[in-house]
Amino acid sequence: MNDCLFCKIIAGQIPSPILYQDEAVVVLRDINPQAPLHLLIIPKKHIASLNDLSDADDALVGLMVRRAAAIAKEHGYDEPGYRTVFNTNRDAGQTVFHIHLHLLAGRSLAWPPG
Ligand code: 5GP
Ligand code: ZN
Repeated sequence: MNDCLFCKIIAGQIPSPILYQDEAVVVLRDINPQAPLHLLIIPKKHIASLNDLSDADDALVGLMVRRAAAIAKEHGYDEPGYRTVFNTNRDAGQTVFHIHLHLLAGRSLAWPPG
């Protein structure tokens, strides 16, 4: 996608530290962290929001969720816990229209969310 921030980061057009990547996903630290650990698990494929997922993306979304769980475990948050969030559109506060799974950990997180 031409004007997508995350596509530009993935393509190396905007330099950004990448914590992890494989053929399907990249993992970045959120630039405005909301918890001691706040990472973004981002597919290399441009998909604007969860509303745009198709059957063909089922495996990709599964990989994203399993990668979040693996990273949480690597950081020792599997037992204390962590939150994974996809924001979709206005009411959820989505600001980057390339899907990304937030991984938040390291503090007690309120529920319900604000
Ligand atoms: P959303 O609000 O769309 O669910 O989440 C977008 C997230 O991307 C926000 O938490 C925001 O802080 C983060 N973000 C925005 N621009 C950048 C950037 O250039 N680099 C990184 N690593 N995160 C970003
Ligand atoms: Zn994109």
